[in-house]
Amino acid sequence: MVALRRNRLSGYGGVESRRCDDGKGARAITTTVPGKGTATPAQADLLCAFANTLDVDVDAETKDALPDAAALTDWLRQGDLLDVDDQAGRRDLDLALTLRSGLREAMLRHSEGDHTSRVPDLDATATALPLRIVFDGTRPRLVPAVGGARGGLARLLVAVAEAQADETWVRMKLCLAGDCQLAFFDMSKNRSRHWCSMGVCGNRQKTLSYRARQRAKRP
Ligand SMILES: [Zn+2]
Repeated sequence: MVALRRNRLSGYGGVESRRCDDGKGARAITTTVPGKGTATPAQADLLCAFANTLDVDVDAETKDALPDAAALTDWLRQGDLLDVDDQAGRRDLDLALTLRSGLREAMLRHSEGDHTSRVPDLDATATALPLRIVFDGTRPRLVPAVGGARGGLARLLVAVAEAQADETWVRMKLCLAGDCQLAFFDMSKNRSRHWCSMGVCGNRQKTLSYRARQRAKRP
């Protein structure tokens, strides 16, 4: 677990990136270069990387890779989501944190099998990050209707819409191990995974559950 956490990175794009777990344990943490050996869809890589800018660790200090607007600027630029001439401001950061909260909440619901409840934080940010449809190619596509940092954040909503269209949105989940809560992409056939890694969090949670049951049986 410790080794896993030390490798957590929060970039996206043509840089080192902590990508979604593809279900093959140790291969979960890799360097992702779009188009080269990426097992998960690009939308999942992007959305999970964004969700994982918050590194929850109940045993140590929770780390937030987006503590201020400058960090958000860097993150968006690394993912080619923001021009070098643009930068994020305080309001953009507030929007980003609300969006991240909403995405993590939605991913948690997916892990719990809840696909119907509303996620107010996602609704709130969607209002502030408008999209529009363009017909400049062979098929209509969604693009941000605003520029700058808000446009970069709106690209995350485009990724959500595309993931919904190809039915991968519900496969983006949050690990149910309380001291992990890592966003991951569930590639299992029946979309049944609850943990980012069966070999780490899954086994640990099963051991904890077993011990709890044994304790409950004692007179
Ligand atoms: Zn986990």
